[in-house]
Amino acid sequence: MEKKRYKGFTCRVCGEHSYEEKTVSNGIRGPGGASWTDYYFCTDCSTMFKDVTKFSTTLLERTKEANAKTREDDNRLIEARVFAQYGLNDKARELLLKINTKDKDLLQEVEELKRKIEAKNG
Ligand SMILES: [Zn+2]
Repeated sequence: MEKKRYKGFTCRVCGEHSYEEKTVSNGIRGPGGASWTDYYFCTDCSTMFKDVTKFSTTLLERTKEANAKTREDDNRLIEARVFAQYGLNDKARELLLKINTKDKDLLQEVEELKRKIEAKNG
């Protein structure tokens, strides 16, 4: 079993970039001996797969996922604002805690809303 790397491979399950190949041999040594790939597996989460290129996520898919997450966080911020407006600060805080974005603009708005909520409490 040898460790292989595939440039551009990203595990669909855990995001790891390396995988290993599990080979099977027909048990014959010397002439007549042969081995072939039985399956591949991710070196991190050990999920098995047969086709490396099909199992790998593409950059486009990862971008789509990231965008979907940002949209979810956007919606949480909007909901949190509504809760804060009606004085439901605990509910607003709960939503803000779930926001886990790397989007700087969004983070700034989250911080602003947090400050507003804390100012009201004090
Ligand atoms: Zn994995």
